Amino acid sequence: MSRRLLIADAVRDAAAVAGDAVLIDATRIITVGNADALRTPGVPEARYRGATIVPGLRDAHLHPVGYAAALHRPSLKEAADFLALADILAEAASVLPPRSAVTALRLDDESLAEGRLPDRDLLDRVVPDRPVLLVRYCGHVMVANSAALALAGVDERTPDPSGGSMDRDATGRLTGVLRETATEPVAAAVQALAPPISSDQVVDAATALAAVGLTGVGAMVTSDAGCWAGAGSELDAIVDAAGHIPITMGVMVVADGPQDLERAAQRLSDATGRVRFLGVKIFADGSLGGHTAAMREEYADLPGERGTDRLDPIWAAELAHTSLGLGGNVAIHAIGDRANGTVLGLMERLIRDGADPAMLRVEHASVLTEDDISRFGRMGVTACVQPAFMASETTWLRKRVGPARLLRTYPFRSLADAGVPLAGGSDCPVEPPHPLPNMAAARDRCGIVPEQALTHSEALEMFTDGAARAIGEVASLRPGDPATFTVVDVDPVTATPAELRRARVLDTWVAGTRVPVPTGVITWQG
Ligand SMILES: [Zn+2]
Repeated sequence: MSRRLLIADAVRDAAAVAGDAVLIDATRIITVGNADALRTPGVPEARYRGATIVPGLRDAHLHPVGYAAALHRPSLKEAADFLALADILAEAASVLPPRSAVTALRLDDESLAEGRLPDRDLLDRVVPDRPVLLVRYCGHVMVANSAALALAGVDERTPDPSGGSMDRDATGRLTGVLRETATEPVAAAVQALAPPISSDQVVDAATALAAVGLTGVGAMVTSDAGCWAGAGSELDAIVDAAGHIPITMGVMVVADGPQDLERAAQRLSDATGRVRFLGVKIFADGSLGGHTAAMREEYADLPGERGTDRLDPIWAAELAHTSLGLGGNVAIHAIGDRANGTVLGLMERLIRDGADPAMLRVEHASVLTEDDISRFGRMGVTACVQPAFMASETTWLRKRVGPARLLRTYPFRSLADAGVPLAGGSDCPVEPPHPLPNMAAARDRCGIVPEQALTHSEALEMFTDGAARAIGEVASLRPGDPATFTVVDVDPVTATPAELRRARVLDTWVAGTRVPVPTGVITWQG
């Protein structure tokens, strides 16, 4: 018999402590209780001192191939100013083969001393002879140098595409800053010249997710290049890696259209291992950081700007019906209050046409009107939220949305009180994938509108059962459920936010198997 007894100081879910030990067979929970009662001669034991076993932590929304790219491409997040950024790019260019493109991720204009995005002239000065593409950390804004623009055939005569824009200076010249769909042709052209992300790198990234305690994720995967420039076809990378990915991965596909989605679903159901098709991901707008989230009123720090609508309601409804027909979910990215209103309207129509609200998710749901918070609750659709966003936005969120809208930005308390099912996510590589600091941010909100905080158990619930439900899994301690746990060196419910941010994950178990994390696997602190 392949029984095993895992013993800690406590075994608990968000609701209560159920004992200090869990007895499992090869893949499932037999029972949870007290070690003294469950001990049987001959059954091996794993003892975790000073630790708590919780149902496996889940992240309902992250980008595994983007994370792999972030682990292997230069990060600009730590650059203090343009000079430091130029050094990183020059260094990256110096080690690449001739003619390949330089791509760098996690550009953050808010943390640069200049307080703005660099432009093509700066990039041309640093790397004049090959394409350069910088990706803002939100993934919605990029900066290209002249060689990258030329490679994509984009120039001053190119009109802004639908759902995107290209910044121009006072004379009409392109600055190299590309927003939303305007990033796509340039990213696709540059991607062809950047080294692809290998399936080994994807497996390592997934192992790094297990190392921070994640047993299952909602994986946002693009059928082609994706926004993390140079990553290659994200779907290819996931399908190739599938047999070796140690955690469960429900894949939500960013598809070109219904046929592309059907093909992706087929490839994912043919894939081996723990990877499966979960649905479609659609964009309704952009990011607060890039001023592209679609708002009802103008940005407080950019008069006249109300963001970018990316949703074509007819196309989106067709894709949504295709996904539902394939047994998949529908996840729509909406950050601004205008985009959220549009998405809830679309989802109301899907529900009228027979869709199960439990299959519908709004990704981020960041800024909401009071009316839409109530509507959300009545509809029963899930809000997939990212408390960790606040960690990167503490210095600028208030100036961007203004004091009145700030009260209804990341309104977790109001959503929970309205009965909206909440699923936690990191949107990694936008934020680090670590679920414990993410829970801490749900509780103390990094100081932003503390009235909207969640309780200790709600925060754990959001990254266990809440996120698990959103990815079609269960995270519970009932007999017969998968033996999927995270072992942490604190009790996530009684620990303070500061303790959660410092906490360590001791082990991750997926369906009865302890995920081995080889030393040398990079776990990224962001
Ligand atoms: Zn995302």
